This record gives sequence, C-alpha cells and structure tokens, in this order.
Amino acid sequence: MSLIVQKYGGSSVATPALIQRVAQRVVTARRGGHNLVVVVSAMGKTTDGLVALAEEITDRPSNREMDMLLSSGERISMALLSMAINAMGCEAISLTGSQCGIITDTAHRKARIMEIKGDRIFSALAEGKVVIVAGFQGVSLDREVTTLGRGGSDRTAVALAYRLNAELCEIYTDVDGVFTADPRLVPNARKLDTISGDEMLELASSGAKVMEAKSVEFANKYNVTIHVRSSFNEQPGTIIKREDAMMEQVVVRGIAHELNEAKVTFRGVPDRPGVVAGIFSRLSDANVNVDMIVQNVSESGITDVSFTVRKTDMRIALGICEGIKDKFQAKDVGADEEIAKVSVIGVGMRSHSGVAAKMFQTLADEGINIEMISTSEIRISCVIQASEVERAVRALHAAFELEKEAG
Ligand code: ADP
Ligand code: ASP
Ligand code: MG
Repeated sequence: MSLIVQKYGGSSVATPALIQRVAQRVVTARRGGHNLVVVVSAMGKTTDGLVALAEEITDRPSNREMDMLLSSGERISMALLSMAINAMGCEAISLTGSQCGIITDTAHRKARIMEIKGDRIFSALAEGKVVIVAGFQGVSLDREVTTLGRGGSDRTAVALAYRLNAELCEIYTDVDGVFTADPRLVPNARKLDTISGDEMLELASSGAKVMEAKSVEFANKYNVTIHVRSSFNEQPGTIIKREDAMMEQVVVRGIAHELNEAKVTFRGVPDRPGVVAGIFSRLSDANVNVDMIVQNVSESGITDVSFTVRKTDMRIALGICEGIKDKFQAKDVGADEEIAKVSVIGVGMRSHSGVAAKMFQTLADEGINIEMISTSEIRISCVIQASEVERAVRALHAAFELEKEAG
C-alpha cells in the first residue's frame, strides 16, 4: 500500500471546524487505500501567541524553555486532529516529535534534524493506523525538546517523506500553490504548475514563506518531490521538482519580498585590511546570520559598511558593533528597520542577459531608490525602503509579464 505524507499548516487547522474538514480529507485518502502520516502545525496563530506570552514574563527567556513552550502548540492540534479522525471511525494516533524519534542537534529554536528513528510510526502504520505527527519539533542528542525554527513543520514533513520513502509529500496551505508573487500583495499573481527546486529555494530564502527554505534545501538534497496545494479546495497545486530542460526557457519565474530584515551601518571606519573581518567574525561568533553586505568607496581612507540581518538579530548586531566601535575607530553605528528586499528569480537567468537592467530600470521608473544589491546565478535582490515594497513588487511583476502564461 502506498504511503503519503501530508502536512497541514496553521491556517488549515485554525478552528475546530477546520480540523474536522482536515480529518475528513485524511479519512477520504485513507479509505482510498493509502497509508498516511499527517504532520500538523499549531492552530492558527498559536505559536505567535506563545511567543507573546513569554514576552510578558521576561525579555530574556532561555531557548530551552522557549522550546518547551513552543512545542506545546503542535501537541494541541495533533491530539484534536487524531480525535476527529477516530470519531469518524478511522483509527489514528498522535505522536510528538520525540515519540517519533525525530533526533536533532542541540541548537534550541533552530534545530536541525539528524536522524528519524520512526519505530513508533512504523508499528502504528503496521496496525493500520493513521499517524498524526506534531510538526516543528524533535528531541536533541542530549534528550531535550527542540524546535526547528519558525515554519519548521514543513521540514518535519519533508524529512518524514524521505525517511519513510513516501510516494508523495503534500504540503497543504491557505493558497492554491506557489504563485509568481505573494498573491496577497499581487492580485493577478499566477499559480505555477511546476517550479524547480533551485527556484523554490531562492524564492523561499528571499521571503516567500509558502515553503520554509531549509525544507526546500532538504528536499533538493534528497530528491523529495513536493506538492504544495490548498487545504480549502481539491485543485492541484504546484509541484516542486528537479529542473528539466524546458525550465530555463522562462527567464523570470517569480518575485519575492522580505520585510523581516534590518540594515545596520558602521559609519566612518578606516579603509584598511582587517576591519570588515573583525566585524563579521564577531557576528558569526554570536550566531548572527548576515545576508547582504555593502562597503562604500572610501573617501580619504574612510568608508561605511552596511549589512542586513534578521530583525530579531538586530539588537545583538547593534550591540556587537557598539562594542567594537572604538577599537575600529568608527564614527558611529546606526540601524534602519524600515527596509525591504525585493528579488526576481528564475533559472532562465543563467542563459539570458538583461534581467538586472530591466529590474533596476523598473524601480527607477517608479522613483524607488535602490540601497543595496546582491545576486546569485538565478536571483537579483535589491534593498529598498519598506514603504515602497508593494509598489516595487507589483511593478516588477508587470514589467516581467508574470501574469501571462509562460510560452
Ligand atoms: P502555512 O500556515 O500553511 O504554513 P504560511 O503562512 O507559512 O502557511 O504560508 C502561506 C502564505 O505564504 C500564503 O498565505 C501567502 O501569503 C504567502 N506567500 C508568499 N509568497 C508566496 C508565493 N510566491 N506563492 C504563494 N504564497 C506565498
Ligand atoms: N507553528 C510553527 C510556526 O508557527 C511551525 C509551523 O507552523 O511550521 O512557526
Ligand atoms: Mg508555513
């Protein structure tokens, strides 16, 4: 009998009525003859609510206790879904990440899955049960509960699909699939039938939260095919799969935007070897991931260095820069939280030129100033002011004619 892994995101299980609907979908698939492992996220905005609760207690909670707290959200939804399925006359059992033997490293709040033992999943499947798994969590090598980072239930599903050698990995969400841009921002964004793993990885890493970036990385590495689709209808969604020859014919596949980054600027630093190394080695020691970096042309031996980090890391980055300001004889350190990053992505960029020129011209025509630029083989990203992000994404979507079916 074939095995399917399904994952339902928070909005798909936000209320008891929606949980009943998901249960119905699961029961239908089970009665259709499939073995099922179903990964669930916490209901609606539960995880945000738990984070807010912790903030009411302290502004410095330990990451261990945060994981104890955050992992509880998925326990609620898994138990309710299992109850709903059982009530429909189909046998189900819910299991936490730890009970499934999802072993992670010890990095609380951003753990990586090292191994899935899965004994209890295998025995429950052998007993004919539907297995409901709490997403986004595992147990570390030193037996602590860990979480995988926001959006991490996608990774639970992809890793299980790989481990269980599933025929399909279905990611059910609140939109019809992967679109040419966030459909909440661009009303005429078009649903893509297929997208390459590399394009999806760049989209996700550039802010398209429909898939968690590390899950896509995992799926690409281990060749797991993903079907992203809506839990609110029966329409087929988007297949994320290996690149084929046809895919390079489309120059730009989609536009992503990111509002969760902040820009830190180190002003008036001497332009000599070792300064940039000094700043970034300290950021790396503090586990702060830097995305874009720009060093200005120096004037009389003095320059500015700007970089972007996640907004949640901004305070740490600022503290580090303040701490080394005098050592590096910098004039001052500043931060800007009101920035956004827009990215155009497509594997066709490898064989077509002119994409950067068109992107920059489109933003110029809109009177939008570009503050930073970075590129990869299949992506061009620009940092702009946050207040201009909607206009930028819509203008780029129109300029690259993404509303039209690719020919
Ligand atoms: P879930 O709770 O199911 O995990 P998420 O909220 O994490 O869902 O992701 C779905 C959301 O991703 C959509 O509601 C949509 O606003 C957003 N999104 C951003 N970019 C895209 C895109 N290119 N295609 C589809 N959805 C996108
Ligand atoms: N509940 C977690 C979050 O909100 C994990 C997930 O939904 O994937 O980030
Ligand atoms: Mg998600």
